[in-house]
Amino acid sequence: MVLDFEKEKLIRELKKRKPNKVLVQLAEGIKQNAPEISEVMESLGIECIFSGETCWGGCSVAVQEAEALGVDLIVHFGHAQFIETDFPALYIEVKDLLNLNPVLKKSVQHVKEFGTIGLSFSVQHKHDLEKIKKFYEDLGKKVILSKKAGHVAYEGHIVGCQYEGLKAIENEVDAFVIFGNQFHSMGATLAVKKPVILIDVYNDDVRNMKGLRDKILKQRVISIDRLRDAKNVGVIIEVKLGQKFGSPKKILQKLRDAGKNAILITMSELTPDKIMNFYSIDAFIELACPRIAIDDFAKYSKPILTLKEALVALGEKSWDDILETGII
Ligand code: SF4
Repeated sequence: MVLDFEKEKLIRELKKRKPNKVLVQLAEGIKQNAPEISEVMESLGIECIFSGETCWGGCSVAVQEAEALGVDLIVHFGHAQFIETDFPALYIEVKDLLNLNPVLKKSVQHVKEFGTIGLSFSVQHKHDLEKIKKFYEDLGKKVILSKKAGHVAYEGHIVGCQYEGLKAIENEVDAFVIFGNQFHSMGATLAVKKPVILIDVYNDDVRNMKGLRDKILKQRVISIDRLRDAKNVGVIIEVKLGQKFGSPKKILQKLRDAGKNAILITMSELTPDKIMNFYSIDAFIELACPRIAIDDFAKYSKPILTLKEALVALGEKSWDDILETGII
């Protein structure tokens, strides 16, 4: 994988902001590039500390770590800006330099029946947008970019928990084409009803996500049923700044009104080992990244639900509403 760390932008910004000490956050897939980044910082005389905490999305902005370490700036690599923070932060999105021609050609047969396609991409592929659009337009397709809505940074940009921009164009397109990996396309197929085609640039593969949608929806229904039967329920919040999906107070009250013992649990990040010792809890609702409940279903022995799913179990929303608005 050849990556462009936008060194010119990085150096320009660092010279402008003149930090003495920075905290560097690297997205999970690029942590191996830490020495390369360190060299740039050192060449400018900047003290640099790398965060070893997980960094799955632009929602993770390590403000607490930065304050504890007394740094002047956070440099966050690999994601677009997701939220505003009071703490100074610089986002370097990182470009994936790939030859997309083989996978674009492979996609032709998958899109042949669709006249208008909704196009979305993960941020590493933003620089290839014009090339991708032209490829499909030359095939006679109309290409519409998903809207900039919610926390996404650009038109066409896709983030794993934000699909309003795709839903906004759903009536205008015959199918969605997602450039990236399974993570974003799986979220998309749960959010929209039109076909979702994944252009998996990392595995040089093209797939229709339909089968996966059906499988995941069945798993979600099982989790909802288990919350209905649960007596003791844990509501999990994370301290990550961008991961606040719903009001803990309100959901606790609703659970108690439904006759359940509900407790609030805080974590830096939800993982199976952290909930393992809460033996007496029958089901968990997480108000953190909604993808944990869905993508990591098989890793947890107890059901983990998103807020929307919990509202279905409590009878406040119908499953059909959720399917209509998207389960994420
Ligand atoms: S909340 Fe989850 S899906 Fe959304 S940006 Fe963060 S890690 Fe990605």
